[in-house]
Amino acid sequence: MFVFPYVDRHGYWQYSLTFLLTVKFILLSFTVCTDPGFMKSSEAVPFLELVKKFEPDYLCPSCEILCTEDSRHCLVCNRCVERLDHHCTWINVCIGLKNHAYFFAWACLFACYLIQLTLFCFSHISHAGLGARANPVLFELTVVSNLLISLLFLPFVLVVVYMQINHFLRGTTLNQTHS
Ligand SMILES: [Zn+2]
Ligand SMILES: [Zn+2]
Repeated sequence: MFVFPYVDRHGYWQYSLTFLLTVKFILLSFTVCTDPGFMKSSEAVPFLELVKKFEPDYLCPSCEILCTEDSRHCLVCNRCVERLDHHCTWINVCIGLKNHAYFFAWACLFACYLIQLTLFCFSHISHAGLGARANPVLFELTVVSNLLISLLFLPFVLVVVYMQINHFLRGTTLNQTHS
């Protein structure tokens, strides 16, 4: 984001970075603001009635609900989530049935953005044209620091995308695989 003051106006980098950053924020907002699939207790049937009729494995004593096959209790949110994938500590949000698609799209866009940012930084380090810059030292520092941040985060984001695709192809979730 901090490289934007230095991106050439109306050029390829400005359009691509602005597009990716904007869509990334929109998808992040959807991921965070969408109910991941928190399960609600039935007010019609008291929990004690459920205890009498169902095996303990099918009940969550914390939420006092009847679980489904794919629901899991998130220890951070302290609530059961339908088809819980994981609790994302980066954004402190449960990823479940209803926001999983947004999360996956966000992770993909995040990876694309970091790749674009890395390419931008590399291209401007080698073709900086420092003589034309108003403040070449600040420009260099901004580009180099952004490059380091991108290279630091990119491996983690790529691992997340890889794991999500891997689990999707196997028809499972992160939670089911590791529980
Ligand atoms: Zn629960
Ligand atoms: Zn959670």
